[in-house]
Amino acid sequence: MLAIEPVPCLSDNYAYLIHNSASGLCAVVDPSEPGPVKAALAKHGWRLTHILNTHHHLDHTGGNIPLKEEFGAEIVGPGKDRARIPGIDTGVDESTGWQFGGHRVPVLEIPAHTKAHIAFVFEDEHAVFTGDTLFSMGCGRLFEGTPDMMWTSLSKLMRLNEKTRVYCGHEYTLNNGRFAVTLEPRNKDLAARMKDVEALRAKGAPTIPSTIGLEKKTNPFLRPDSREIRETLGMVEADNVAVFGEMRRRKDVF
Ligand SMILES: [Zn+2]
Repeated sequence: MLAIEPVPCLSDNYAYLIHNSASGLCAVVDPSEPGPVKAALAKHGWRLTHILNTHHHLDHTGGNIPLKEEFGAEIVGPGKDRARIPGIDTGVDESTGWQFGGHRVPVLEIPAHTKAHIAFVFEDEHAVFTGDTLFSMGCGRLFEGTPDMMWTSLSKLMRLNEKTRVYCGHEYTLNNGRFAVTLEPRNKDLAARMKDVEALRAKGAPTIPSTIGLEKKTNPFLRPDSREIRETLGMVEADNVAVFGEMRRRKDVF
Protein backbone atom coordinates (compact mmCIF):
# COMPACT_ATOMS: atom_id res chain seq x y z
CA MET A 1 0.00 0.00 0.00
CA LEU A 2 1.34 3.40 -1.00
CA ALA A 3 0.56 6.73 0.64
CA ILE A 4 0.28 9.60 -1.86
CA GLU A 5 0.48 13.16 -0.55
CA PRO A 6 0.14 16.35 -2.62
CA VAL A 7 2.75 19.01 -1.88
CA PRO A 8 1.70 22.48 -3.10
CA CYS A 9 4.68 24.33 -4.63
CA LEU A 10 5.20 27.79 -6.19
CA SER A 11 1.85 29.46 -6.97
CA ASP A 12 -0.19 26.57 -8.41
CA ASN A 13 2.10 23.53 -8.87
CA TYR A 14 1.71 20.17 -7.18
CA ALA A 15 4.59 17.87 -6.35
CA TYR A 16 3.56 14.50 -4.84
CA LEU A 17 5.21 12.32 -2.23
CA ILE A 18 4.73 8.57 -2.70
CA HIS A 19 5.66 6.51 0.34
CA ASN A 20 5.92 2.74 0.38
CA SER A 21 5.59 1.71 4.03
CA ALA A 22 6.66 -1.90 3.32
CA SER A 23 10.01 -0.98 1.74
CA GLY A 24 10.56 2.48 3.30
CA LEU A 25 11.09 3.91 -0.20
CA CYS A 26 9.82 7.44 -0.81
CA ALA A 27 9.58 9.19 -4.18
CA VAL A 28 8.69 12.76 -5.07
CA VAL A 29 7.05 13.50 -8.41
CA ASP A 30 7.95 16.80 -10.15
CA PRO A 31 9.52 18.80 -7.29
CA SER A 32 9.28 22.46 -8.36
CA GLU A 33 11.38 23.60 -5.42
CA PRO A 34 13.04 21.85 -2.45
CA GLY A 35 11.50 23.73 0.51
CA PRO A 36 7.90 22.45 0.59
CA VAL A 37 9.08 18.91 -0.26
CA LYS A 38 11.55 18.86 2.65
CA ALA A 39 8.87 20.20 5.00
CA ALA A 40 6.42 17.46 3.95
CA LEU A 41 9.10 14.77 4.35
CA ALA A 42 9.96 16.04 7.84
CA LYS A 43 6.30 16.15 8.86
CA HIS A 44 5.89 12.44 8.06
CA GLY A 45 9.40 11.32 9.04
CA TRP A 46 10.00 9.96 5.53
CA ARG A 47 13.40 9.83 3.80
CA LEU A 48 13.53 10.67 0.09
CA THR A 49 14.94 7.89 -2.12
CA HIS A 50 13.69 8.79 -5.63
CA ILE A 51 12.85 11.87 -7.70
CA LEU A 52 10.51 11.30 -10.66
CA ASN A 53 10.11 13.85 -13.46
CA THR A 54 7.32 13.81 -16.05
CA HIS A 55 9.03 16.45 -18.22
CA HIS A 56 11.89 18.94 -18.18
CA HIS A 57 10.14 22.25 -17.38
CA LEU A 58 11.75 24.10 -14.48
CA ASP A 59 8.56 24.18 -12.42
CA HIS A 60 8.73 20.34 -12.41
CA THR A 61 12.50 19.86 -11.98
CA GLY A 62 13.68 22.90 -9.98
CA GLY A 63 14.06 20.78 -6.82
CA ASN A 64 16.05 17.98 -8.50
CA ILE A 65 19.61 19.04 -7.71
CA PRO A 66 19.15 20.38 -4.14
CA LEU A 67 17.07 17.32 -3.14
CA LYS A 68 19.56 14.93 -4.75
CA GLU A 69 22.44 16.65 -2.93
CA GLU A 70 20.66 16.47 0.42
CA PHE A 71 19.20 12.93 0.25
CA GLY A 72 21.27 11.16 -2.41
CA ALA A 73 18.00 10.37 -4.18
CA GLU A 74 18.01 8.73 -7.63
CA ILE A 75 16.51 10.90 -10.39
CA VAL A 76 14.26 9.07 -12.86
CA GLY A 77 12.87 10.83 -15.92
CA PRO A 78 12.15 10.61 -19.65
CA GLY A 79 15.11 8.80 -21.24
CA LYS A 80 14.39 10.50 -24.56
CA ASP A 81 15.00 13.90 -22.94
CA ARG A 82 18.10 13.18 -20.80
CA ALA A 83 19.87 16.38 -21.83
CA ARG A 84 17.12 18.57 -20.37
CA ILE A 85 16.49 16.71 -17.06
CA PRO A 86 18.79 18.16 -14.36
CA GLY A 87 20.86 15.45 -12.63
CA ILE A 88 19.07 12.51 -14.30
CA ASP A 89 20.37 9.05 -13.28
CA THR A 90 17.85 6.70 -14.90
CA GLY A 91 16.04 7.33 -18.18
CA VAL A 92 12.77 5.46 -18.68
CA ASP A 93 10.26 5.06 -21.50
CA GLU A 94 7.48 2.68 -22.56
CA SER A 95 9.96 -0.10 -23.34
CA THR A 96 11.71 0.01 -19.94
CA GLY A 97 8.92 0.93 -17.50
CA TRP A 98 10.00 1.31 -13.88
CA GLN A 99 9.85 -0.50 -10.52
CA PHE A 100 9.15 1.05 -7.10
CA GLY A 101 9.93 -1.53 -4.44
CA GLY A 102 7.63 -4.39 -5.34
CA HIS A 103 5.33 -2.17 -7.42
CA ARG A 104 5.27 -2.36 -11.21
CA VAL A 105 5.21 1.15 -12.68
CA PRO A 106 4.57 1.16 -16.43
CA VAL A 107 5.60 4.38 -18.19
CA LEU A 108 3.48 5.97 -20.93
CA GLU A 109 5.07 8.23 -23.53
CA ILE A 110 2.64 11.12 -23.90
CA PRO A 111 4.35 13.85 -25.96
CA ALA A 112 3.00 17.23 -27.17
CA HIS A 113 3.32 19.57 -24.16
CA THR A 114 7.01 18.66 -24.50
CA LYS A 115 8.42 16.18 -26.99
CA ALA A 116 9.39 13.54 -24.41
CA HIS A 117 6.73 13.98 -21.69
CA ILE A 118 5.93 10.76 -19.79
CA ALA A 119 3.36 9.52 -17.27
CA PHE A 120 4.06 7.11 -14.39
CA VAL A 121 1.28 4.53 -13.85
CA PHE A 122 1.17 2.91 -10.39
CA GLU A 123 -0.92 -0.02 -11.57
CA ASP A 124 -1.88 -1.83 -8.38
CA GLU A 125 -2.64 1.52 -6.69
CA HIS A 126 -4.76 2.70 -9.62
CA ALA A 127 -2.86 6.01 -9.76
CA VAL A 128 -1.32 7.92 -12.66
CA PHE A 129 0.93 11.00 -12.56
CA THR A 130 0.16 13.00 -15.69
CA GLY A 131 2.36 16.12 -15.29
CA ASP A 132 1.24 18.84 -17.70
CA THR A 133 -0.46 16.56 -20.25
CA LEU A 134 -3.82 15.71 -18.63
CA PHE A 135 -5.20 18.18 -16.06
CA SER A 136 -8.48 18.03 -14.15
CA MET A 137 -10.96 19.13 -16.84
CA GLY A 138 -8.11 20.36 -19.06
CA CYS A 139 -4.91 19.50 -20.91
CA GLY A 140 -1.46 21.07 -21.32
CA ARG A 141 -0.46 23.59 -23.94
CA LEU A 142 1.11 22.27 -27.13
CA PHE A 143 4.62 23.70 -26.76
CA GLU A 144 6.45 20.96 -28.69
CA GLY A 145 3.72 19.01 -30.46
CA THR A 146 0.63 19.07 -32.64
CA PRO A 147 -3.06 18.52 -31.86
CA ASP A 148 -2.74 15.08 -33.45
CA MET A 149 0.15 14.18 -31.13
CA MET A 150 -1.70 15.41 -28.02
CA TRP A 151 -4.89 13.57 -28.98
CA THR A 152 -2.86 10.35 -29.33
CA SER A 153 -1.27 10.98 -25.91
CA LEU A 154 -4.61 11.67 -24.21
CA SER A 155 -6.11 8.59 -25.87
CA LYS A 156 -3.44 6.45 -24.17
CA LEU A 157 -4.48 7.83 -20.79
CA MET A 158 -8.16 7.26 -21.61
CA ARG A 159 -7.44 3.52 -21.96
CA LEU A 160 -6.44 3.24 -18.26
CA ASN A 161 -8.94 1.72 -15.85
CA GLU A 162 -11.70 4.28 -15.15
CA LYS A 163 -11.08 4.18 -11.41
CA THR A 164 -7.44 5.24 -11.90
CA ARG A 165 -6.79 8.39 -9.84
CA VAL A 166 -5.29 11.26 -11.84
CA TYR A 167 -2.57 13.32 -10.15
CA CYS A 168 -1.67 16.28 -12.39
CA GLY A 169 0.94 19.04 -12.21
CA HIS A 170 -1.16 22.13 -11.51
CA GLU A 171 -4.25 23.37 -9.67
CA TYR A 172 -5.97 24.72 -12.81
CA THR A 173 -9.29 22.92 -12.24
CA LEU A 174 -11.62 25.86 -11.61
CA ASN A 175 -10.51 27.84 -14.67
CA ASN A 176 -10.52 24.66 -16.79
CA GLY A 177 -14.06 23.93 -15.67
CA ARG A 178 -15.25 27.44 -16.53
CA PHE A 179 -13.93 26.93 -20.06
CA ALA A 180 -15.53 23.46 -20.26
CA VAL A 181 -18.95 24.92 -19.39
CA THR A 182 -18.73 27.29 -22.39
CA LEU A 183 -18.46 24.25 -24.66
CA GLU A 184 -20.95 21.93 -22.93
CA PRO A 185 -23.45 24.00 -20.92
CA ARG A 186 -25.94 21.11 -20.80
CA ASN A 187 -23.48 18.45 -19.51
CA LYS A 188 -25.02 17.50 -16.12
CA ASP A 189 -21.89 15.67 -14.90
CA LEU A 190 -19.88 18.81 -15.61
CA ALA A 191 -22.36 21.06 -13.77
CA ALA A 192 -22.30 18.76 -10.73
CA ARG A 193 -18.52 18.63 -10.73
CA MET A 194 -18.23 22.40 -10.95
CA LYS A 195 -20.28 22.66 -7.74
CA ASP A 196 -17.83 20.31 -6.00
CA VAL A 197 -14.79 22.15 -7.37
CA GLU A 198 -16.12 25.58 -6.39
CA ALA A 199 -16.77 24.34 -2.84
CA LEU A 200 -13.26 22.85 -2.55
CA ARG A 201 -11.54 25.97 -3.87
CA ALA A 202 -13.63 28.25 -1.63
CA LYS A 203 -11.95 26.60 1.35
CA GLY A 204 -8.53 26.45 -0.34
CA ALA A 205 -8.57 22.64 -0.66
CA PRO A 206 -6.98 20.76 -3.60
CA THR A 207 -9.31 19.42 -6.34
CA ILE A 208 -6.80 16.60 -6.96
CA PRO A 209 -7.01 13.68 -7.56
CA SER A 210 -9.60 13.23 -10.22
CA THR A 211 -10.23 9.86 -11.91
CA ILE A 212 -10.03 8.74 -15.52
CA GLY A 213 -13.77 7.94 -15.39
CA LEU A 214 -14.66 11.44 -14.14
CA GLU A 215 -12.38 13.07 -16.71
CA LYS A 216 -14.05 11.15 -19.53
CA LYS A 217 -17.42 12.57 -18.42
CA THR A 218 -16.35 16.19 -17.77
CA ASN A 219 -13.07 17.07 -19.54
CA PRO A 220 -13.84 18.55 -23.00
CA PHE A 221 -10.39 17.59 -24.28
CA LEU A 222 -11.32 13.92 -23.81
CA ARG A 223 -14.75 14.51 -25.40
CA PRO A 224 -14.22 15.74 -28.99
CA ASP A 225 -16.92 13.26 -30.02
CA SER A 226 -19.54 15.04 -27.85
CA ARG A 227 -22.47 16.18 -29.97
CA GLU A 228 -22.95 19.27 -27.82
CA ILE A 229 -19.29 20.34 -28.09
CA ARG A 230 -19.42 19.85 -31.87
CA GLU A 231 -22.56 21.94 -32.14
CA THR A 232 -21.04 24.71 -29.98
CA LEU A 233 -18.00 24.80 -32.26
CA GLY A 234 -19.98 24.44 -35.51
CA MET A 235 -17.92 21.31 -36.30
CA VAL A 236 -20.51 18.53 -36.34
CA GLU A 237 -18.86 16.69 -39.26
CA ALA A 238 -15.18 17.24 -38.31
CA ASP A 239 -12.82 14.51 -37.11
CA ASN A 240 -11.77 14.24 -33.45
CA VAL A 241 -8.32 15.76 -33.99
CA ALA A 242 -9.79 18.85 -35.69
CA VAL A 243 -12.34 19.32 -32.88
CA PHE A 244 -9.62 18.79 -30.26
CA GLY A 245 -7.35 21.32 -32.02
CA GLU A 246 -10.09 23.95 -32.13
CA MET A 247 -10.80 23.49 -28.39
CA ARG A 248 -7.09 23.82 -27.58
CA ARG A 249 -6.84 26.97 -29.73
CA ARG A 250 -9.81 28.55 -27.93
CA LYS A 251 -8.47 27.61 -24.49
CA ASP A 252 -5.16 29.32 -25.30
CA VAL A 253 -7.01 32.65 -25.48
CA PHE A 254 -9.73 31.95 -22.85
ZN1 LIG B 1 5.20 21.98 -18.30
